[in-house]
Amino acid sequence: MRGLQCAKSLYLYKNSIQLRDAVSSEQKAIFNRGNNVGLLAQKLFPGGVDASPQKRYDYTAAVEKTKQLIESGTEVIYEATFQHEQVLAILDILVKKKDSPDQWLAYEVKSSTKISHTYLLDASLQYWVITNSGILIEDISLILINNQYIKNGDLKLTELFNITSVKKEALANQALVNEKIHLSKQVLTQQKVPEISIGEQCFMPYTCDFKGTCWKNVPKNSVFEITGIQKVEQFNLYNAGYKTIDQIPEINDLDKNANIHIQTFKTGKAKVDVPAIKSFLEKTVYPLSFMDFETFMPAIPIYNNTKPYQHIPFQYSIHYKKNKEAALQHFSFLAEQGPDPRKLFLENLLLHTKNEGSILVYDSLMERNVLNGLKNDFPEFSSQIDMLLKRLVDLMLPFQDRSYYHPAMKNSYSIKNLLPALVPDLSYSNLKISSGSIAMTSFEHLITETDMFKIIEIRDELLEYCKMDTLAMVKVFEILEKQV
Ligand code: SF4
Repeated sequence: MRGLQCAKSLYLYKNSIQLRDAVSSEQKAIFNRGNNVGLLAQKLFPGGVDASPQKRYDYTAAVEKTKQLIESGTEVIYEATFQHEQVLAILDILVKKKDSPDQWLAYEVKSSTKISHTYLLDASLQYWVITNSGILIEDISLILINNQYIKNGDLKLTELFNITSVKKEALANQALVNEKIHLSKQVLTQQKVPEISIGEQCFMPYTCDFKGTCWKNVPKNSVFEITGIQKVEQFNLYNAGYKTIDQIPEINDLDKNANIHIQTFKTGKAKVDVPAIKSFLEKTVYPLSFMDFETFMPAIPIYNNTKPYQHIPFQYSIHYKKNKEAALQHFSFLAEQGPDPRKLFLENLLLHTKNEGSILVYDSLMERNVLNGLKNDFPEFSSQIDMLLKRLVDLMLPFQDRSYYHPAMKNSYSIKNLLPALVPDLSYSNLKISSGSIAMTSFEHLITETDMFKIIEIRDELLEYCKMDTLAMVKVFEILEKQV
């Protein structure tokens, strides 16, 4: 599968694994989520035997164990391992067909809700290895999460998971699998690293973990730092010889916003549309509340009346400013790990926003979705939530429409890009939790964490992170006020 993305990546993985980039905490969280979903899906076929090797990476033992389990009449095998012509496949669940003992049903579990091209190729490769190992596969299916399932009491696994046969696709892909295995083996017998330039394949279907090696000569301020344009546009510029932003000609095919970035980058000066900023500020009314929510999205619903991957709000931070000169006040809420946080979150939020005035959020989409979701879940609070929704003002708008633009924003209007440009003294880099996705996985981790000291540490980090988000908004707002 790696070789399909890039032959060089396959070669480096086999021959220079030490060059691989470190795994980020977000990637680890995705990996753990996949493991948990896989273990739960095994319960769809209870009583199976695990063929995983005792020692990590001892796949020869796993292949042997799988063979023995099949020969001894085992009906359900987890992590069934097969090898054919040096290609290894580890199937999540192998089940003997009831009325036809020589036939098997193969299942591959994914923690996603949709079938992707990569999953189909993965299943096709599994099918190739297993059937060529002499096992008769009656059907091969993907087990995915059903995002329409609503938890009510105990988990109903047959409703939580969708099982979709992909045998037709696997059969159609067999010639392709054959060809790609042949090509991958050729790559691995080469004496030198394949000469492959950086390209869109570095990101598709996944960001390659040898990027640190292959991209090390890409210069600072390269065209890849223009976020918000397509990868293909970045590579068109790069391959045409325009390596850095200052080399891009005045006349080009990029959109208006990308050109605002290029122009401001070349002059080093911010673009400030004072009348537009003034008209934005006129929409805000003191006292101001700067508000930010954090949510987490469990793949397997934990609380009643929630769906897989639903945003569950667990934390907020509010900085409150009575008038322009008043000192800042701070309010926050962080749910206890364990019980459903939604009601307490809402009750505290309504208390902390009971004052009048505008409520500023940065990119209001998430906050609006969460509030509308809470309205559904707790209709008794509907009118209060509606009043709160009416007071929301999106602080992102003057940056999104380029009323204010600084070249350090790199054609993005995310607050993480805005901050180093506008308030260099304030930085996320010293925080252990430095992004919404890390906050999300940290809270999810808290649910199973038992070490008291670790729990306190993570909770402190979460509080610090969310507080930083709203403090950043206060500073950004003050900068807009100064412009007018
Ligand atoms: S970074 Fe790009 S070129 Fe390098 S190995 Fe990965 S996909 Fe291939």
